[in-house]
Amino acid sequence: MRSYQNVEFGHTLRDTDMLDPKPTGDEVVIAVKAAGVCHSDLHIWEGGFDLGGGRKLTLKDRGVQLPLTLGHETAGEILSIGPNVTDRQVGEMCLVYPWIGCGVCRICRDGHENLCMKPRCLGIHCDGGYSDQLVVPHSKYLLPLEGLDPVASAPLACSGVTTYSALKKLGSIIRDEPVLVIGAGGLGLMCVSILKAMDGKGAVVVDIDERHRDAAIAAGAIAAIDGAGPDALERIAAAFSEPCKAAIDLVGSPSTAALAFDSLARGGKLVMVGLFGGAAPWSLPLIPMKAATIAGSYTGNLSETKELLDLARSGAVPNIPIQKRPLSDASEALEGLKAGRVVGRVVLTP
Ligand SMILES: [Zn+2]
Ligand SMILES: [Zn+2]
Repeated sequence: MRSYQNVEFGHTLRDTDMLDPKPTGDEVVIAVKAAGVCHSDLHIWEGGFDLGGGRKLTLKDRGVQLPLTLGHETAGEILSIGPNVTDRQVGEMCLVYPWIGCGVCRICRDGHENLCMKPRCLGIHCDGGYSDQLVVPHSKYLLPLEGLDPVASAPLACSGVTTYSALKKLGSIIRDEPVLVIGAGGLGLMCVSILKAMDGKGAVVVDIDERHRDAAIAAGAIAAIDGAGPDALERIAAAFSEPCKAAIDLVGSPSTAALAFDSLARGGKLVMVGLFGGAAPWSLPLIPMKAATIAGSYTGNLSETKELLDLARSGAVPNIPIQKRPLSDASEALEGLKAGRVVGRVVLTP
């Protein structure tokens, strides 16, 4: 099999030829048909996150060992199954759930493997989908696509379920009032579409890039506001008929988090999703005075991913713009994403 591996953080991925995997036990090997290039791949590729104040969270310190094949938005066709697998068949087209935990701790047993303290996530801790073949440790992580297009569906495994889970954390208010969505990259466009599919009132989107704002409007956003404008706060307020009660920050920088928090009305909720980096910009007394809730959301769990696939199968999730590129373009795709040249999602196709 041919894989594109991270051999040194931040360097060009290495085109690696390896022996084809043979599944044992519960394992399943899939032939990759689509591998989404996600913004978090940039952090995984570069080896860390900026915690602000000069501090860094390095993946090396968190036990991530190289070489490693990137890619956690993978869809493909089952190529071979281990002897214990009885619920999946060769030839089935599936989405791969990548947020795998230890499987035995309380968090995993409660169904939140994405929050496990001993993660085995595909494309982060174990080899992922920037490859023509992928070993999935258990068939339960394979969700049949049943007619959905693998290229269009691959991003549901990360950007899709991440935004779906973040929107769910806002509760029923999303059906009554618009949500402030900061960031209109791949995640933001997905958020606008999924909010619509969830019968949401709509999204007021903020992005500093005009092309991203145009894409958000095309995806159905109520308004798209330049977050770098001096009057951003006023323009956000003007886009809401009632003061904003629900916001999602898909960027996660000090300036976006500040803008989202400052836009919130009393009793509002901000869900932090983006991993851009930096330290919290909020004034502590304003958190109680506003009675604000600030919640974090990290990917989504297996059952949320199944719910999202059902939603997509119902036809309610419109596709975000996708640029198909050959697998061999993996490094260039990451460079393009880093330089902000990508609108929508790049999906690698082996
Ligand atoms: Zn991702
Ligand atoms: Zn666990």
